[in-house]
Amino acid sequence: MKNRNKRIAAALLLALTAWAAAACSDSSAPGTGSAVNEAAGNVQTASPSPSQDPVANDGSEAAGGGAAANAGDTTNAGGAANPSGSKGGTDKPAGDKDGQGTAVSGQPSEQVAAQADTVAALINKEFRLPKGYVPDDLVYPDIPFTFSEKIDKRKLRKEAAGALEKLVAGAKKDGISLAGVSGYRSETRQKTLYDNYVKKDGVAAADKYSARPGHSEHQTGLAIDMSGTDGKCAAESCFGGTPEAEWLAAHAAEYGFIIRYPEGKESITGYKYEPWHIRFVGKELAAKLAESGDTLEEYYGAAVPVTGRK
Ligand SMILES: [Zn+2]
Repeated sequence: MKNRNKRIAAALLLALTAWAAAACSDSSAPGTGSAVNEAAGNVQTASPSPSQDPVANDGSEAAGGGAAANAGDTTNAGGAANPSGSKGGTDKPAGDKDGQGTAVSGQPSEQVAAQADTVAALINKEFRLPKGYVPDDLVYPDIPFTFSEKIDKRKLRKEAAGALEKLVAGAKKDGISLAGVSGYRSETRQKTLYDNYVKKDGVAAADKYSARPGHSEHQTGLAIDMSGTDGKCAAESCFGGTPEAEWLAAHAAEYGFIIRYPEGKESITGYKYEPWHIRFVGKELAAKLAESGDTLEEYYGAAVPVTGRK
C-alpha cells in the first residue's frame, strides 16, 4: 500500500508541487469560539496532533449565513484518467502504469484529481479539485438541517442528494432523526476561511485545523456532515458513539455513503476519526468498502503521506 505513486500516478494529473494541507475544513469563522474545523485533528505530522478535538462547528457558520458566492467558473474536471476507473472491481486506479507521482520525501505533492466530477473521485490532502471547480448539478436535498437559511451548505450534487434523502428516511424508520450540518462548500468560501485562519494564527497553525482551498471534500458536493436534529455535537468528536453515529456507521453504505474518515485510519486518510462526515461514492463502491474496511485511499492505493511535513 505504500507504493502509492506507482499505483495512482497515471490516474492523476500532476500539478503544483506545493504540499497539500487539510482537505476538508468545515470551519466556521474564526472568533466564534468553536471555530476549529473537523480537519483540526489531522494527522499531518508525527508530532502529537492537536488533541483537543477541535470542532468543525458548522452550526455557527450556518447562523452567520455566510454563504459565499460560488467560485465562478466551472472548471472542466475532465481530462485525465481517474481513480474511479477501478469501478469495475479491481482495487487499482485505471491506467496504473507510470509512477510519476512527485512526492518528494517529506513533502507530499499536490496533484489535481482527474475526473473530479465523478462520484468516486479521490480528493484529499494530496489530490485537489481543479481550480475553481463547481459541481454543475447542485441541488437542495429535502432533509432537515441544523440551520434554517437556504445557503450553499445545504446543497449537494443531485445524485448524492437523492441518496441522502433516502438515507434520512431510512434512519427515521429506525427511530433515528438525522439532520444535515454542512454540505457543499465553494472554493471561495474555503479560501476565505483558510485565509482568515492564517491571518489569525499563521500558516503552520492554520494548516493544522483548516483545509486549504481546493482540498475539501465538501467542494465536491458529495460530502456532508450530519448530526442529530438537535444539532448536538454537530461535527464534534462527541458525536461519536451517539445512536445517530452508530446508525450511520451501520447503514450509510446501503445508501451509497461511506464514513470517509474512519477510526484507526488517521495515518492513511490524514484525518482524525470523523463519524459525522459522510461521502457519497455510489452503492457499489460503498458496499465494497464496507466489506473490505478500506478507505478510499486504500482502495486506490494512495495513502496520504503524513510525515515530514515542514
Ligand atoms: Zn466534513
